[in-house]
Amino acid sequence: MQCNLNTTTKWSRNTCGRLQRLSNVFLHDVVSLVSHFLSPRDLFNTLFTSKIIMSTIQLDDIIRNALSNGNVNMKTTLENLYDLTLYGKIYLPSCERLTRLINARRCELCNVNRIKAVRQGYGIAICFPCLLGNTNGNIYTSELLSEPPCDRKNTIGTHEIVSNHRVSTVSQGYYISLHGGTNRYFTSSKSQSYPYGERRFIWNHPIVNEHGTRKEIGPIVTKKDVAMLQKMTTIDELEAYITVHLNAPALTVYRDFNDAVRHCRQISYTNAQKRKRLNAVKKSAAARARQLKLTKVQEWIAVLAQKLPSSARYLLEFMINYQYTSHGPKYCMLPLSFLNAVVYSRLNIVFFYDDEIHALLKTYISAPSRLNPSKMETARAEICNIYFGRGGGVSDVSDTDDTFVDDDMHMDAEEDG
Ligand SMILES: [Zn+2]
Repeated sequence: MQCNLNTTTKWSRNTCGRLQRLSNVFLHDVVSLVSHFLSPRDLFNTLFTSKIIMSTIQLDDIIRNALSNGNVNMKTTLENLYDLTLYGKIYLPSCERLTRLINARRCELCNVNRIKAVRQGYGIAICFPCLLGNTNGNIYTSELLSEPPCDRKNTIGTHEIVSNHRVSTVSQGYYISLHGGTNRYFTSSKSQSYPYGERRFIWNHPIVNEHGTRKEIGPIVTKKDVAMLQKMTTIDELEAYITVHLNAPALTVYRDFNDAVRHCRQISYTNAQKRKRLNAVKKSAAARARQLKLTKVQEWIAVLAQKLPSSARYLLEFMINYQYTSHGPKYCMLPLSFLNAVVYSRLNIVFFYDDEIHALLKTYISAPSRLNPSKMETARAEICNIYFGRGGGVSDVSDTDDTFVDDDMHMDAEEDG
């Protein structure tokens, strides 16, 4: 028994007699809405949790998500796909495959080598070794220069095949080495037997998706078809071969994908600009915070120095980590010998020359506000202990300030008592 409770959602009763949704428009709205706020990787993980969720997502949601929240590799993937889908050169990826391509980290074929984005001109996420293995069927267009080859009489030329909008080839360099001349670009041992023209790579053979549905992926026209096309005499014949024999999808199939990419580019650009502005604000705020911290540290060092006998003040000599305060820890330009992780650590805005003092006051360099009056007093006593422990303050009592000596005496008396 089936009844329509509302116009968009279809319902049926299951064996227990409970109502069950057949097509879930509500869930689609939820997934579409949530995809605004997810990173492409999170969306990928969400979609692969359940077949129902995967079936509710649509291409434009994935594209918008990747273009507005994705990183540069994800955007490159989409742009590389768009270049091919614009003319229908490849089979359109399904939602499942598209989200996998956007988040691709390893080669689709060998699943071993790391890749960053879908490869330009092929629409497949492949590593370079796999690309070489699968595109060794090069085609050479020898007609770009004036002289056509003598075997070309009645058939259509290679350049006509290459320039057909449904054929995807990738240029692998242009070379001119007429009669073994020296002006060669990107030449290999193979290219020397082709004295003029352009060498283009084309995908060798059709491939099918290994995951789930056995659906064809990648370029529609492959090297095995080029041999057939080269025998043809008219362009109409070529078109008919692609649409009828190869069963290439109609161009209307690609429309939604292309429209979504065009529409979301602006969002992507606006978001990138917004993020750039936010990052600049954050950066300047961080620089200001670092400067403020340095000021605070300098202040307490000055206060502490006032409380020490003047001959002990050398202990508080310090060096400012300008690499950190001016540019941040990333841009340390000092030579490697200077690049001491301890000296230039993020926490050490200031570095005391005396190791013992540095160890003692380390906490207050990273958190200057922790140095409250009582801790200041403890620190002062500790520094005095270090100072007197090293034999300071015996010979040079005369040049210390009387008040400080008195203070020290009182302190010692209190501690003893
Ligand atoms: Zn591979």
